Amino acid sequence: MNDLIVQKYGGSSVGSVERIRHVAEQVVQSRSQTKYVVVVLSAMGGETDRLLSLAKAIDADCGGREIDALLATGEQASTALLAIALLGHGVPAISLHGGQAGIQTDNSYNKARIQRIDTQRIHQHLQHEQVVVIAGFQGVNEDGEFTTFGRGGSDTSAVALAVALKAKECRIYTDVDGVYTADPRVAPKASLISDLSYEEMLEMSSLGSKVLQSRAVEFASKYNMPLRVLSSFKPSRGTLIRDLEGRDMETVKISGVTYNRDEAQLTIIGVADKPGIAARILQCVTDENIEVDMIVQNVSEENQLASFTFTVHRRDYRKCLSILERLADDLQARVIGNDKIIKVSVVGIGMRSHAGIAAQMFAALASHNINIRMISTSEIKISVVIDEQHLELAVRTLHDAFHLEQQESFALANEPTDGVGLC
Ligand code: ADP
Ligand code: ASP
Ligand code: MG
Repeated sequence: MNDLIVQKYGGSSVGSVERIRHVAEQVVQSRSQTKYVVVVLSAMGGETDRLLSLAKAIDADCGGREIDALLATGEQASTALLAIALLGHGVPAISLHGGQAGIQTDNSYNKARIQRIDTQRIHQHLQHEQVVVIAGFQGVNEDGEFTTFGRGGSDTSAVALAVALKAKECRIYTDVDGVYTADPRVAPKASLISDLSYEEMLEMSSLGSKVLQSRAVEFASKYNMPLRVLSSFKPSRGTLIRDLEGRDMETVKISGVTYNRDEAQLTIIGVADKPGIAARILQCVTDENIEVDMIVQNVSEENQLASFTFTVHRRDYRKCLSILERLADDLQARVIGNDKIIKVSVVGIGMRSHAGIAAQMFAALASHNINIRMISTSEIKISVVIDEQHLELAVRTLHDAFHLEQQESFALANEPTDGVGLC
């Protein structure tokens, strides 16, 4: 099974009957070249949102088991439709939902983690030369209940299956022909990146680039599974994400600019500057299962009072605001919040060996009068929080400032050429 390539098609690639027929043709073509074919699918584009909005119309606070039972049907429909299309071509095929495919998860509904994959049934179908079409984004817990992996989770299903089946590569077919230096919808001058390290892709995904779910990249990196992002609409080599230890770090300072719209900022002003306060604030928030991202604390020399600012996911904004308001009463402080902010980041391994990237970034933003509200850095990224209205301008400005439109593609030795470019 060493030649196996797991192919995953996202929502826009299976968004209509025509698109499903097109994917079926592509799968038929790959089957003419290789005996074993495993395909992972997302729900048809917009279907997960549609199902979610039906549920929210009934109960705005719904969650847990029933949401997963509902959302899992989206991928079950698309996989059955693809199997029907393949059978229509005379190709033996079977669709499997997450449980039938042996994907076992923990019990966390809506954000389950894969614990193991029992590949026995998949192998049986492959031995019978059936194309196995597996529903992404879902598994079952120990009680056999459906669980889902969070938005974009079919990417994680595909990588986990590729690892479990010892595939040689996992291909993520989508509506763009690879990973770009910025979201091409926002930065028209964005250029295609030919090769990326797991580390860079992980930063880009975690900082908002929705082209791959960050857990999929984490998984690929942990098991050293080559991951290729490419178009299902037209033939392309795509972007290959893998271990790039051999790369010359001097060549690429910045690999990409990313943004995240799902941000909100909260500040508690006038708390005592003493041990235990930061812990108390964060404890209140994390006790409610709200994840905190960036954190900044300032102390005023004048009155020795501190202000404490942090960001959370925008969906948690209202809840977090009311938690902090209750706490502020206790601490004799006050709270301000803003859910019209976004985070923009620049990412690149080359940053490690190049000083001055932060200064260059801040100067570029300042030249367009874009005010920075918060800053956070790591070895290979710099992120800033800015007002939402500046999103497009900031992404394009940073893209220009780091000359990303000129980025040259480079190839490593042993470049695999077999079959890539098939669409
Ligand atoms: P799928 O339905 O195939 O899973 P997604 O919508 O999840 O597709 O991801 C593809 C989208 O990701 C693209 O349409 C693009 O707008 C967006 N995107 C964001 N950042 C990038 C990037 N750096 N490179 C390519 N696409 C990006
Ligand atoms: N259908 C799910 C979503 O829309 C999972 C996926 O597409 O990867 O998020
Ligand atoms: Mg996706």
